[in-house]
Amino acid sequence: MRYFGTMNNNNGILEIGGVSVKKLAQKYKTPLYIIDQQLVEDNILSYKNNFKSNSFETEIVYASKAFLSKGICQLLNKYDLSMDAVSAGELYTIHASNFPMNKVHMHGNNKSIEELKMCVDYNIGSVILDNVDEINNLSNICEEENKTMDVMLRLNIGIDAHTHEYIKTSKHSSKFGESIFDDKIFDVIKEISNNKNLNLLGFHCHIGSQIFDTKAFLEGIEVMIKFLKKASETLNIKIPQINLGGGFGVYYTKEDTEINIKNFMQEMIKHIEETSIKENVVLEKVTIEPGRSIIGNAGSTLYSVGYTKETFSGLKYVFIDGGMSDNIRPALYQAKYEAVVANKLNEPLTETATIAGKCCESGDLIIKNCNLAKTNYNDLILVSTTGAYGYSMSNNYNKLVRPAVVFVKDSKSQLSIKRETFETLIENDIPLDTI
Ligand SMILES: *Cc1c(COP(=O)(O)O)cnc(C)c1O
Repeated sequence: MRYFGTMNNNNGILEIGGVSVKKLAQKYKTPLYIIDQQLVEDNILSYKNNFKSNSFETEIVYASKAFLSKGICQLLNKYDLSMDAVSAGELYTIHASNFPMNKVHMHGNNKSIEELKMCVDYNIGSVILDNVDEINNLSNICEEENKTMDVMLRLNIGIDAHTHEYIKTSKHSSKFGESIFDDKIFDVIKEISNNKNLNLLGFHCHIGSQIFDTKAFLEGIEVMIKFLKKASETLNIKIPQINLGGGFGVYYTKEDTEINIKNFMQEMIKHIEETSIKENVVLEKVTIEPGRSIIGNAGSTLYSVGYTKETFSGLKYVFIDGGMSDNIRPALYQAKYEAVVANKLNEPLTETATIAGKCCESGDLIIKNCNLAKTNYNDLILVSTTGAYGYSMSNNYNKLVRPAVVFVKDSKSQLSIKRETFETLIENDIPLDTI
């Protein structure tokens, strides 16, 4: 397993943030999500220090859906980052953390009236409109409340990038945004810019997630700037901003060649500057929305080993006290991870075993054929890079309680989200009056 951030081998026991994971297991029990706060802060600073330009303002928006707690909101605010949200629940959580709502931007392809109202009532930074139908709903709410709202329009730019390759789609079938290849796009833009309750800041795109092919982003920049130019000329309006979305790929296993944030942010900035000069476009502000690349490597999940089993076919299993309830990504889309026996770092990796969860699904496997030190009952297994889309996709399948989330830094640990209890597990469950 690759070590990230402050991970350190102290006499065979893994420490993160200067805290032994053995101590964390004793104090908070397992399974446990551990966030390396220093690494989150370092990632934030890599973005802040390198995604900046002398020609235009920049904004870095953390994509909340990767991982959201009051603690992460506080940390982002400390470094003056912005946040996005895609639901009332995310907006509510961010608001409850006292995060400045004028730095929150609302996404979503099907925002309800309730959600749009919440955006207006909270005075959030901007709403990223996804489709034509939404324009009237938001405008009506603004009209009723006598407010104007800054908006962007999400575009489908025909670049669909995931992991190693990107595809320039000819079908353009994504559910997000309005297509730039459809001539009606100019009517949509006109409708927004003519609406007195809405202030059109610019265009948004997000071409995918866990992208390694940096060319896809560079091409996205060109498409966005050229389209912005075409739209401003066609409609004779000023459109000052673009938002390029997130999706910067991180390391999970040796198969991944992650994007180096520092280098690539500088490259992106250069490409935006050069393209806007070439196209003679004046940009006032450029925004990006990293999620996974801020929190992914900074999070790990700590489990206790239970039983082990060797099947008749010879496959060896190590069972852990969590599984697809706290990390559904392997079952959902064959995501791969690395792991160590965190209390036996100095022992040779003599065992090849499949790490399986305790849920009632054969697909509840976290890592297939993982090289590990020989495990015994109650050993600790740490799976790395579970910070993004781990807790946020967790569930109560088999009525497992969601684990706690703890932040570690400078030899101290702080609880960020409590472990669920049996009481909270059934608090919304009401017996029927009549049967
Ligand atoms: C998910 C998402 C992001 C963040 O993606 P990452 O892969 O986590 O960086 C950014 N913008 C939008 C619109 C998204 O849907």
